[in-house]
Amino acid sequence: MNETIKILIEIAYMVSAVTFIYGLKMLSKPTTAIKGNIISGFGMALAIAVTLFNPVIKSYEWIIIGGLIGTVIGSIAAIRVPMTSMPGFVAFFNGTGGLASMLVGWSDFHVNYTGAGYGAYTLENIVLILATFLAMLIGGVTFSGSMIAFAKLEEKMRGKPILFKGQQIVNAIVLGLSILIGILFFVSPNGSLMYPAVILLIILAYILGVLVTIPIGGADMPVVICLLNSYSGMAGCASGFVLNNTVLIVAGSLVGASGIILTAIMCKAMNRSLTNVLFSGFGSSEGAISSAVKGEVKSLTPEDAYYVLEAARSVVFVPGYGMAVAQAQHVVKELADLLEKNGTEVKFAIHPVAGRMPGHMNVLLAEANVPYDKLLEMDDINPIIDTVDVCIVVGANDVVNPAAREDPNSAIYGMPIINSDYAKTCFVLKRSLASGFSGVENPLFFKENTRMIFGDAKQTLTAIINQFKEAQE
Ligand code: NDP
Repeated sequence: MNETIKILIEIAYMVSAVTFIYGLKMLSKPTTAIKGNIISGFGMALAIAVTLFNPVIKSYEWIIIGGLIGTVIGSIAAIRVPMTSMPGFVAFFNGTGGLASMLVGWSDFHVNYTGAGYGAYTLENIVLILATFLAMLIGGVTFSGSMIAFAKLEEKMRGKPILFKGQQIVNAIVLGLSILIGILFFVSPNGSLMYPAVILLIILAYILGVLVTIPIGGADMPVVICLLNSYSGMAGCASGFVLNNTVLIVAGSLVGASGIILTAIMCKAMNRSLTNVLFSGFGSSEGAISSAVKGEVKSLTPEDAYYVLEAARSVVFVPGYGMAVAQAQHVVKELADLLEKNGTEVKFAIHPVAGRMPGHMNVLLAEANVPYDKLLEMDDINPIIDTVDVCIVVGANDVVNPAAREDPNSAIYGMPIINSDYAKTCFVLKRSLASGFSGVENPLFFKENTRMIFGDAKQTLTAIINQFKEAQE
């Protein structure tokens, strides 16, 4: 009977694995993303449900308590956390995934070490020992690293890189010691000093997670979150080997691989290497050099902006992090509708790293019901942007900074940008002349064809909308 149950569980796991892959594929297009999420969610629910029938489970009380706590925290967070805090919460959840994998490794070690001990070096045992070590090391690094990322993004600690002399050497020593314990664990898994050594390994993993994350600036944190996401997948995969659980191995591998692909895509969009993101301390005062920006700033009132927009034949909105802060996506859509009603052609240009996480702007605009076919990627808008009458930059800064194109001394030189300054007129909606997350000054604000419209983006757009409405009455 037990064998039949195990076979049925394995079949259900395979079904779950297929739904994960299928769902992941559907996530690549906005039109199918919601369905993909639901399908993968169903697969995960199936995997959890059938696991409860595993004959090795002897009692359910801790599973029920854990499940309830997880469900309550997850549901409250999903409902209450604002979009602007989403990257921080993704980091937090990554961290809990890493912690779970670390605990799986630890508990399996505890059971084996205090029980019958690890047996002979069969292939199965070798995999078990290696996987236990990796689940504890990578899981621990993921946990503490993700908590630092969370604290930086939620501004619970300063976002600037924390650098000190000999940092790389300290990191290398901590990593070296961890690997040494791993080797000892492999050579003598039942040795008398192994228990304290494994506790030390976990502590070192936590320290390493902190050490590798503190030198990274707040603006680079989303890249690091993708990397930590990949680590949490690898730790999950390792814990799958520890538990001999197929679905955990498959899900962990998918998370590990997709996290690393996303990391590479983000680095490419910023024209930076992963090594540069991890070790350059970008955003520290030394990193953010740029030539002094000169010129005159010309500002405009929303009323004047209305007259320009009323006569424009084509308008492109370029949203950035400030749109998320102002929660201006709905008024952006309202103004776009009014412009279209007035005969203007309207498009939205999305930079791959606008905002604080990949797809940030797409999600916000989708929330405001902006049709997908109106969204253009950077490579599609740039060749035609000089034909656009008005480019409205809504709370974007770094992603439209011409210094990335023109100033070889700039810290962001080489980063691909949306060439908003090439449009016939460029409106920049933000509260001040302050720099963006990279800390680099923006010469766009001083260009001949730029008009700054100072203020909260939502209020500015609402004022322009009111002008349109008044004119219609
Ligand atoms: P930035 O962070 O460069 O600039 C946002 C601007 O929004 C600020 O300069 C701020 O100016 C303005 N702002 C803030 N609040 C408001 C408000 N209420 N109304 C109007 N404006 C407001 O954003 P970008 O989107 O241009 O660039 C994203 C940055 O994040 C890049 O440096 C990118 O490399 C980085 N990054 C993004 C990742 C991603 O996945 N999206 C990943 C890694 C890094 P002011 O204070 O004057 O209003």
